[in-house]
Amino acid sequence: MSDSKILLSEKEMPTKWYNIQADMPNLPKPALHPETKQPAGPEDLSPIFPMGLIMQEVSRERWIEIPEEVQEIYRLWRPSPLCRAKRLEKALDTPAKIYYKYEGVSPAGSHKLNTAVAQAYYNKVEGIKRLSTETGAGQWGIALSQACNFFGLECTVYMVKVSYQQKPYRRSVMEIFGANCIASPSNQTSSGRQILEKDPESLGSLGMAISEAVEDAAGRSDTNYALGSVLNHVTLHQSIIGLEAREQLAKADAYPDVVIACCGGGSNFAGVAFPFAYDKIVKGAKVRLVAVEPSACPTLTRGHFGYDFGDVAGFTPLLWMYTLGKDFMPPGIHSGGLRYHGDSPLVSQIVHDGIAEARAYGQTATFKSAVLFAKSEGVVPAPESSHAIHCAVEEAIAAREADEARTILFNLSGHGLLDLPSYDDYLSGKLVDYPLPEDNLKKALEQLPKV
Ligand SMILES: *Cc1c(COP(=O)(O)O)cnc(C)c1O
Repeated sequence: MSDSKILLSEKEMPTKWYNIQADMPNLPKPALHPETKQPAGPEDLSPIFPMGLIMQEVSRERWIEIPEEVQEIYRLWRPSPLCRAKRLEKALDTPAKIYYKYEGVSPAGSHKLNTAVAQAYYNKVEGIKRLSTETGAGQWGIALSQACNFFGLECTVYMVKVSYQQKPYRRSVMEIFGANCIASPSNQTSSGRQILEKDPESLGSLGMAISEAVEDAAGRSDTNYALGSVLNHVTLHQSIIGLEAREQLAKADAYPDVVIACCGGGSNFAGVAFPFAYDKIVKGAKVRLVAVEPSACPTLTRGHFGYDFGDVAGFTPLLWMYTLGKDFMPPGIHSGGLRYHGDSPLVSQIVHDGIAEARAYGQTATFKSAVLFAKSEGVVPAPESSHAIHCAVEEAIAAREADEARTILFNLSGHGLLDLPSYDDYLSGKLVDYPLPEDNLKKALEQLPKV
């Protein structure tokens, strides 16, 4: 059988998400209320999240039914293809088999629509009329504006100002779907005004935009807040990626030695890796799980493991995670989706417990592998996804040097066709690396909340 492209039929699409909280040897410590520092209960979260998502956040059930209305929208692009990168294997002269799961086929161009659709659905059924959110480079803003459009909800997106100015096309897409996109920090919220008072030229950060979006939702009863990564329910919704990939590999009679994904807030890594973590924890499978991050924002590889806020203003609950400190300002690397200071508590915990591992690369190396991948396979990858590609390339070269068979699976989380200025910079030699100096890291970590 040829296995260049392994497809599942619509009927074979999984109908349940996988919840790793059922199987982890250690759960992360509970989220804490930002003021009382006591464990946050459902009632603390209900001003900004619907109960359906809050229950998923704390659920220990292994399998959670995907609502029929959500499945119906998933079928616009799911099941997504699993491809074998044979031409890349040849270019690397490797005995390894390289498979990639391709999430760029979604209408949003990335994996983020998997959770956006689910979140819009649970808000809709609880009578919410409007969602607020933040976006960095714009992928999450696009996904949520599409999902809100499908379910008839209004959508307001606070977009980090530097991206709002540099990446106008993603804003255009959000506006096609009817969203209201505001450059953050803005004068629409008190947290935005406070930041602008201190620094009128502020170019914004994800942590600032989250403060604005949370404040917006907390102040209106018809509005909830939606987060595109980090939280447990987001990793749950993304598990469909790995569940499909495992079925597809089985069709090719294959099982991965290593599963790789880039890691910003962690949902995309969780999505492809958690179903394999189940095999590892419950059935003793010998699979390595590798989360890849930028060396300019090395949360898992150099961050502190403990409690921190999810936003700059300190509105969100304290999460138990790897963090660089909420005030950490990442340099302007091209992978906007990987510039968050923290990480999913579930991903952080399995990295801490040695079930998964983490690596960090500079952007000059990741763009080099991105171009090699594009030339071999024909797909221009998102700069974020290129971190996973670079790791897969390293693994394939290691297999060649050890002259050993190795099956590699990575998640291609999105395409890069709205990231072309980044490729221009790479091709004209303007890209530089920003390894994080130890002193900057120390300074950011001094601001950690005392719990
Ligand atoms: C947002 C994004 C990421 C990072 O996702 P996390 O789930 O937050 O780690 C990776 N790739 C693409 C294409 C993205 O849009």
